[in-house]
Amino acid sequence: MNELVISSAASLGAAVAAGQVSAEEVTRAHLDQITEAEPQVNAFLHVATEEALAQARAVDARRAAGEQLGPLAGVPLALKDVLTWTKAPTTCGSKMLEGWVPPYDATVTRRLVDAGIVIVGKTNLDEFAMGSSTENSAYGSTRNPWDTDRVPGGSGGGSAAALAAFEAPLAIGTDTGGSIRQPASVTGTVGIKPTYGGVSRYGLVAMASSLDQVGPCARSVLDAALLHEVIAGHDPMDSTSIDQPVPAVVDAARHADVSGMRIGVVRELGGAGYAPGVERRFREAVELLTRLGADVVEVSCPTFGHALPAYYLIQPSECSSNLARFDAMRYGLRVGDDGTTSAEEVMARTREAGFGDEVKRRIILGTYALSSGYYDAYYGSAQKVRTLIIEDFNRAWADCDVLVSPTTPTTAFRIGERTDDPVAMYQADLCTLPASLAGNAAASFPVGLAPEDGLPVGLQVMAPPLADDRLYRVGGALEAALAEEWGGPLWRQLPELEGVA
Ligand code: GLN
Repeated sequence: MNELVISSAASLGAAVAAGQVSAEEVTRAHLDQITEAEPQVNAFLHVATEEALAQARAVDARRAAGEQLGPLAGVPLALKDVLTWTKAPTTCGSKMLEGWVPPYDATVTRRLVDAGIVIVGKTNLDEFAMGSSTENSAYGSTRNPWDTDRVPGGSGGGSAAALAAFEAPLAIGTDTGGSIRQPASVTGTVGIKPTYGGVSRYGLVAMASSLDQVGPCARSVLDAALLHEVIAGHDPMDSTSIDQPVPAVVDAARHADVSGMRIGVVRELGGAGYAPGVERRFREAVELLTRLGADVVEVSCPTFGHALPAYYLIQPSECSSNLARFDAMRYGLRVGDDGTTSAEEVMARTREAGFGDEVKRRIILGTYALSSGYYDAYYGSAQKVRTLIIEDFNRAWADCDVLVSPTTPTTAFRIGERTDDPVAMYQADLCTLPASLAGNAAASFPVGLAPEDGLPVGLQVMAPPLADDRLYRVGGALEAALAEEWGGPLWRQLPELEGVA
C-alpha cells in the first residue's frame, strides 16, 4: 500500500504546504487506492476523478504562486452523498434523485473547497440517511473493511468505510440519530457529531431537521479537529446555525489532557444485552481514563431508555413532512407522465417506484403520528420525553464535564442479519439517540477490538452544547495512551495491513 494513503491528513497537509509532495500526487495515490478497494468495499456512489485532480492542481498552483496554504489544503476527502455539490450528482442513496446534479453548493461543501480540501467523491448511505447499516441504499450495501461480510454501520457507512479502507483520510458524515458515531464505532474510526447548530445545514438534504447535524470523520482525533474547524461556524443561510465562536477543538486535540476532568459513566447505557467484548473494552477505556487522572463517577439518566421510542416517532414525523418535496413535479424521478395521467397519479407512481421500503415505512409512520387525533398521543408525547431527556442531561452536567458509554451495543453485525427486523436495526442506535434528541455534542473514538470477533469497539463521549472541545480532550488523551499500549493506532491492526511498513 502506498505510504501516502496511510498518512494522516495533518501530515499530508503539512507536506503539501512545505512542497514535499504535490496535492496532485496525494490525490492520485488515493484515487488508485479507491480503484483497488472499491470492488470489495463499495463506499462510493460517485468517484469524481477528473474534478478531484483539477482541484488538486489548483492547490498546487496556489502554492507555486506563493500563497500560504491552510493545514488541510491538498488533502482528499469523501463527502456523504446527502450534501450538495455542483460538480457531481447528489442522490441521497435513493432512486428518487438518481443522476440529479444540484444547482448550488452546500455551505459545508463551499468551505471544504475554499480550504483547498480535495473532494474525491460522494459516499454511499442508507436511503435519505435512514438506517443503521447502509443496507437501505438503492445502490447496494457498503462493506466493512474489517470484515467484508459485515456492515459498516449506517447511515454513513460509506464515509466510515472510505476512511477504514484508506480511500481518503477525511470524510464528512451527517448524524440525525447516530449516523456519524455508529459507523465510526464499527469501523474503528473517529466520528464527531458537533453541537446541533454548530455546522451549517444549508445544502444538506433534510431528513429530520431538528436532529440533522453535519460533522467530521477521520482516522485520528487531530484530523477530525482540523476538519471540524474548517466546516463549523455561523452561517446566515441556516436559521438554526449558532452565532457563537467555534469551540477550540484543534487546541483541545493537540493538548489533550483529562486530568481533573469529571467523567460520568451512564448507568442506563451498558450491561445486560451488550456484547461482552463491547462491555470489556468500554470498562478498560474507563479505567484508562481514571489512570490518566480523570475523576470517574457513575450517573443515572433514567429517561435515556425512552430515547429510542421517542426518536422513532419524532424522526419519522419530521421526515414525512420533509420528504413531501419529492413529488415528481420539481426535480428528480418522474414516473407515469404519459399525458393520460393526473398529477396525483404521477406523484403516487413516482413515490411508489422511487422510495425504498424503509423510507416508505417512516413516511407512513410519521404521517400517522402527526395526524389529527393521534398527534397528542404520539408526536406530542415523544416531544415531552425529549424534554425529560434534556433534563436528565442537565442534571448530569451539574456533576460531570462529559458523559461516556459504549457507542453501540454490539460490534458490526453481518450483512442481511437485521434487514427483516426493523426494530433490531433500530437498536443499533440505542446509545447514540439521547445526545441527538438533546442536541448535545457527541463523538465515538476507537478503544480496541472485541476479543470474541476481532472487530472494533467505540467509546461514546457526550458533552454539553457548545463544549465540543471536551470531546477532543477525551479522544486525544485516549488515542495517545492506547497508541502507546498497541504500538500504533487501532487501524494498524487491520488484517490487510499485516506486513505493510
Ligand atoms: N439509524 C438512525 C435512523 O435510521 C439514525 C440515522 C441518522 O443518524 N441519519 O434514523
